[in-house]
Amino acid sequence: MRCPYCDGLEDKVVDSRLADDSAATRRRRECLVCGRRYTTYERVEELGLVVVKRSGTREPFDRVKLAAGIERAVTNRPIEAGTVAALVAEVEEQARGEGREVASERLGLAVLERLRHLDDVAYVRFASVYKDFENLDDFEREVGELQKTTEPKRR
Ligand SMILES: [Zn+2]
Repeated sequence: MRCPYCDGLEDKVVDSRLADDSAATRRRRECLVCGRRYTTYERVEELGLVVVKRSGTREPFDRVKLAAGIERAVTNRPIEAGTVAALVAEVEEQARGEGREVASERLGLAVLERLRHLDDVAYVRFASVYKDFENLDDFEREVGELQKTTEPKRR
């Protein structure tokens, strides 16, 4: 650890105990450069987002896979570099804000909603390969809902 007082990189742990109801390990460290003590907290890394498919199976959220699907939809469309990555990040952040698990159709709709504002052709392409709906009626109902809440992009 880097000492907060002198930026020294050598330290030793002088005390270690659980903190935050066992969610963290609190360590007292002594800097071997300046001799002062400071505290660090170690926590378990945030758990991943889980996608629940229509069939009920669960899989880890895969932003590379989601981005690849969107990239296919925007191929040869006038979309600025970085747009897809930003879109995926937005959709992921929204899903994480709603909980540990997200339904796959919810993810797909979140993408569609954004593509609709971005590019009509990409929107239709993504919609046409979007297979998580059980049947076309489900899909058309959802798109109908979407159209009620979002204005199409004017050109
Ligand atoms: Zn120090």
